[in-house]
Amino acid sequence: AATSTTWTYIDGDWYEGNPAIIGPRSHAMWLGSTVFDGGRWFEGVSPDLDLHAARVNNSANNLGMKATMRTEEIIGLTWDGLKKFDGKTAVYIRPMYWAEDGGYMGVPADPETTRFCLCLYESPMIPSSGFSVGVSSFRRPSLETAVTNAKAGSLYPNNGRMIMEAKARGFDNALVLDMLGNVAETGSSNIFMVKDGEVFTPAANGTFLAGITRARSMQLLEDAGYKVREKSLKVQDFMDADEVFSTGNHSKVVPVTKVEDRELQAGPVAKRLRDLYWDWAHSTPKG
Ligand code: PMP
Repeated sequence: AATSTTWTYIDGDWYEGNPAIIGPRSHAMWLGSTVFDGGRWFEGVSPDLDLHAARVNNSANNLGMKATMRTEEIIGLTWDGLKKFDGKTAVYIRPMYWAEDGGYMGVPADPETTRFCLCLYESPMIPSSGFSVGVSSFRRPSLETAVTNAKAGSLYPNNGRMIMEAKARGFDNALVLDMLGNVAETGSSNIFMVKDGEVFTPAANGTFLAGITRARSMQLLEDAGYKVREKSLKVQDFMDADEVFSTGNHSKVVPVTKVEDRELQAGPVAKRLRDLYWDWAHSTPKG
């Protein structure tokens, strides 16, 4: 699986490549008790690394595991591991927890068997001119039907089938609704729209990942004088929008250039936000 330079920390040591660390008896392998987070390093900075470290710990606890690392430890390990890279290519930062054994009747994770690893790998930041989205027939579960308060690996097969369906229809990604029919996110990022100069993003209602890049983007736009509102939004709102863009840690701010049959131009707010994000990112700690 490892096709670019990769370093993984586990149990006190760093290993190059893709060490075999999960066996067939592992609870994670059997029932999917895994959580992860995704941060980024580029141009000397790792924006919001503290929030990614805190979120993976929350995810582990919410899945019934035990966050065995302090957030400061995850941050320190990340900066240590980053020294192993060439300092040029952007790096993806993926802390993970999983369970080795099950608890009562084997089904829940046994928190005492929680394990941690930190996987870092080169993943260039490729500027994207935009992507298209088609409305998915699959929906986001709510907290009553899935562990939506964790960034759990087990949530992602749903996203996978959404993206495959969208691709089969000729789109790049899916526009995903929640169980009430409101727009939630894309298959892999959060979504924003602009109408008459105001910026809107779906109201966080626990069904989708209210991302770290989403929160940072809202704050940067507000500080720059934009009016930003969280709101319940329908597909029609996006069809009628002046501009649509997405946010996520991997590619940051990317324009959406098509929603179903509605073509859109990459707009000024996404461009401005990208600049605001880059300026702010370079003001964060360098290590
Ligand atoms: N939604 C989904 C389904 C995601 O996988 C991601 C990427 N982690 C996001 C939203 C964006 O979240 P963040 O900005 O925290 O990376």
